Amino acid sequence: MKNYYYYGLSLSIFVMAVVAFTACEDDDNPKVVSYLNCPDDHHPHLIDLGLPSGTLWACCNVGASIPEGYGGYYAWGETEEKSEYSKDNYVFFEQGLQAFRDLGHNILGTEHDVAHVRWGGQWQMPSREQFLELDHNCSSEWTNVNGVNGRKFLGKNGGSIFLPAAWCRWVENTSDYTGLLGFYWLGRNQAQNDFQAEFIRIDMNGLYIINGSPCYGYPIRPIVKR
Ligand SMILES: [Zn+2]
Repeated sequence: MKNYYYYGLSLSIFVMAVVAFTACEDDDNPKVVSYLNCPDDHHPHLIDLGLPSGTLWACCNVGASIPEGYGGYYAWGETEEKSEYSKDNYVFFEQGLQAFRDLGHNILGTEHDVAHVRWGGQWQMPSREQFLELDHNCSSEWTNVNGVNGRKFLGKNGGSIFLPAAWCRWVENTSDYTGLLGFYWLGRNQAQNDFQAEFIRIDMNGLYIINGSPCYGYPIRPIVKR
């Protein structure tokens, strides 16, 4: 009887271990289907650019229905679009104290990560390192897709994404550089001050990292980390 008991117990532990291992494996390595280019009109797709880290990039911006679409504009850490973007209506500006609330420099995967909140799953905003990896491992060119200017990044494996020059949204804007400049928020950055956040600027000359006020409305290009 004792042997049967131990055998049953061992078997139970073995079965539990297999179940736990399988569940854990599913959480960490779910099957992700990626492409070199969009296979159909059901965006967003995960695009494989052959990057060293394995990071996959979305084919379009948050809120866009096509790769060249501008999508939504979001202030840093906010997850809702607004009709106007100003310091006065920035969710993380404390009017009484006249001070920014410190979100830290890493909002990846949190309630403040608009890619994660809007698209769910493993989608996140990109980090500084992921944009630099994209720039360093791809050739890029200023081009036009269906009448929209932007920068196309071409991986060594033939995968490619297009970042439209969607300009920005800001209450005090007096100029319109749509089609000439594109800005994209980073979800983890090395901004110098708590009241600044880093973003990417793309233009006809290349890609740059810039510090600035988090109150501006910029588009978001999500990634999935591998
Ligand atoms: Zn797509």
